[in-house]
Amino acid sequence: MAGEVLRRLASGLSRAPGILLDALLPPECLVCEAEVAEQGTLCAACFRGLTFIADPLCARCGVPFAHDGQAERGADGALLCPRCSASPPAFAAARAALRYDDAARRLILPLKHADRTELALPLARQMARAGAALLNHAEIIVPVPAHWRRLLTRRYNQAALLAQALAALARLPCIPDALRRVRATPPLGERSAAERAVAVEGAFRLRARTASRIVGHSILLVDDVMTSGATAEACARVLRDAGAHRVLVLAAARVPDPRLGG
Ligand SMILES: [Zn+2]
Ligand SMILES: [Zn+2]
Repeated sequence: MAGEVLRRLASGLSRAPGILLDALLPPECLVCEAEVAEQGTLCAACFRGLTFIADPLCARCGVPFAHDGQAERGADGALLCPRCSASPPAFAAARAALRYDDAARRLILPLKHADRTELALPLARQMARAGAALLNHAEIIVPVPAHWRRLLTRRYNQAALLAQALAALARLPCIPDALRRVRATPPLGERSAAERAVAVEGAFRLRARTASRIVGHSILLVDDVMTSGATAEACARVLRDAGAHRVLVLAAARVPDPRLGG
């Protein structure tokens, strides 16, 4: 009898762990300990602390502008930042949901370093909103890969978790291991855009086994944080060289360009 009850409990657990937890614990904000109405959400104060990236922004790389006057008009009338205007990136467009500030860090760093994998879905929801236009054109979702040494210590790639959550929301296929990082890149913390570009040069390769699935398709490349765009650029080049029709980039957050003050 007890065995039967345990077995039923166990099968219930494996089917719907979230539902069981909801019934046992009052749902808490993903960031602080405030009570919320629904599991997996933010309290009003933490939500208000986030800055969602909105217009005006560069039509190409998505960098936010403090005002329209910082933009230049592209041939099709689209607003472009000076960098994209001078030398267009390998990706067709990049967008991010959040400005990478202290409030965004409190969501993204625990996903990256502290096994808080349940943060992937709420972040992916915000990415789906910010990248709705990109998702309309995307056919396959691919994450920026982590180096295998990092996977040994952290066990998962946070960009892959975001890519898989986003793929489920958008009902698109995801190839989590389409790209591989063949060289560990040093922490890029304080480096300039040019130094970052050098640091990631040649760091990514396409996995031979999945290469044929990329050819002729629009690929949505997913990362947690976009800084200078050097990583996105390096991955986009690899995908384009492999025959991808176009590469779009969607990040959970992005570091605003200090020169634009956005
Ligand atoms: Zn909160
Ligand atoms: Zn730009």
